[in-house]
Amino acid sequence: MRLVIAKTAGFCMGVRRAVEMVLSAPGQCQGPIYTYGPLIHNPQVLEMLREKGISVLDEIPARGTGTVLIRAHGVPPETREQLEAAGFTVIDATCPRVIKVQTIIRKHAGQGYATLIIGDRDHPEVTGLLGYAGAFGRVVSRMADLEALPAFERAIIVAQTTQNKNFFDAVQRWAAEHHPHYKVFDTICDSTARRQAEVRRLAETADAVVVVGGRSSGNTRRLAEIAAASGKPTVHVETEAELDPDFLSGARSVAVTAGASTPNWIIKRICRRLETLPVERGGAWRHLCYRFQQILLRANTYVAVGAGGLCYACIQLQRLDPVWPLVLLAALYVQSMHVLNNLTGQKEDRYNDPGRAHFYQSHRFALAMLALVSGGLGLLMAFQAGIEAFIVLAVMSLLGLSYNLNLVPARAGWRIRRIRDLPGSKTLLIALAWAIVAAILPALAQIGRIDAAAWVVFAICALLVFARTAFFDILDVQGDRIVGKETLPVMMGEAATMRLLQAALVLAAAGLAAGGLWGLISPLALLLLACPLFLYLVLAAYTRGRIHPGVRLEFLIETHFVMAGALAFFWPLAT
Ligand code: SF4
Repeated sequence: MRLVIAKTAGFCMGVRRAVEMVLSAPGQCQGPIYTYGPLIHNPQVLEMLREKGISVLDEIPARGTGTVLIRAHGVPPETREQLEAAGFTVIDATCPRVIKVQTIIRKHAGQGYATLIIGDRDHPEVTGLLGYAGAFGRVVSRMADLEALPAFERAIIVAQTTQNKNFFDAVQRWAAEHHPHYKVFDTICDSTARRQAEVRRLAETADAVVVVGGRSSGNTRRLAEIAAASGKPTVHVETEAELDPDFLSGARSVAVTAGASTPNWIIKRICRRLETLPVERGGAWRHLCYRFQQILLRANTYVAVGAGGLCYACIQLQRLDPVWPLVLLAALYVQSMHVLNNLTGQKEDRYNDPGRAHFYQSHRFALAMLALVSGGLGLLMAFQAGIEAFIVLAVMSLLGLSYNLNLVPARAGWRIRRIRDLPGSKTLLIALAWAIVAAILPALAQIGRIDAAAWVVFAICALLVFARTAFFDILDVQGDRIVGKETLPVMMGEAATMRLLQAALVLAAAGLAAGGLWGLISPLALLLLACPLFLYLVLAAYTRGRIHPGVRLEFLIETHFVMAGALAFFWPLAT
């Protein structure tokens, strides 16, 4: 089954901004935190906010304390005044595009214009806009509403930002014919228009359409209506649990889109579920292969094989003896640290990868033992390799173990108490740790020092692992943001992180080419250029929507390290 995910699926700018504002509020505001009305029409997001102690304020009390966030839809001006008069601190997260519509209405209402708002009467954005229109504000939801209106001497027509474009176009034609003096402002947000145009386009080519988002979300419902109007089987789901395998059984290609209030972690879960449908329908062998692949990834065994492969390549690049215990050491260390990281990171996995969170919850003891045994064996092997290697690995293991521990007491009042609180620390530390076990330990164990070749290989290795880890951080950005994990994409944004990791791959490729051509490292380096190139192509395929988050993508990303090991293994046969 081919999966096509709409580029416009998920949070729009206004919703993303409001969610980020409310998630940053607990660290910045005193007292209880509320959103005035549900932040967005998505039950999963509302549940997540409830868990974080952010509740919904439906009625304004006579007196109140704490902070109230006005959501992206905005409110009538008098509502804001009432909130402030009650004693709340107000954070205004009204979307800048909604503010623009409010400004148009306020300006014209002040000049005596009537305002016709094309929108859903009960939608909070429309309620907010009406508050700026004064006595001559009218809401138009159907053509019949328009025809029932009196003729105004002066009037403006605006649209709710998520209004159906076709209906608004019909209103424009009606106004041109009956009241050409009315001023028409097309205030439909381009995010909505692009989303609707894309679902129309996708529905033409796909065999079925899955629309993801809250049932009470108007813009999500509209997407489902547009897709259904194309005649293609369309299903509107809130979560992956609602996907009916039978409904999609005949579909060879499925288009997935999502409303402006749907978080990307829910879209990811839907993709993962859709990815498994053909597996479930396939034979037992296919199912077995998929499960095997999934377990290898979840238990970090494939990651460990990749680390071993990378270490083997690093050894060959430095022209050292290919000593297998060092390769095994790298694999054991990486498996141990990654399993520990997953065991302590189940909070964010609840959003990012609930299947993995469930796997770690169900097999907690076995996985903890796996981490301990592989960590212990790694240390033993490092000891056999030499005292320097043992000390380096022991220090790194301690750092890894203390990553999630509070190292500074709460009474010190520091914001940064754990290593993981250091912004971007996870990506950098993983890159450094892999590069040390793969490139530095073999040099220490065999020649007792770190020479120029070891430093070059260390840098290349760190850049490759950095690119891999930063990419996984991009996939997990919303879940990490919710739990307050300061990864690079959370701090810098996804686009900037993608540029950074692409730059890291280019630098790694340049290092391999220069080191190989100048003879500082083995000419194998030129063959290994295939690895950053492979990762670059996988990232490009992801960016273009050709591969989606799921087992296949993870497997491909980790495969480039396995590939490095395989190329290095067969290199002596070719020379
Ligand atoms: S749909 Fe457009 S106007 Fe509405 S909140 Fe999103 S970005 Fe703002």
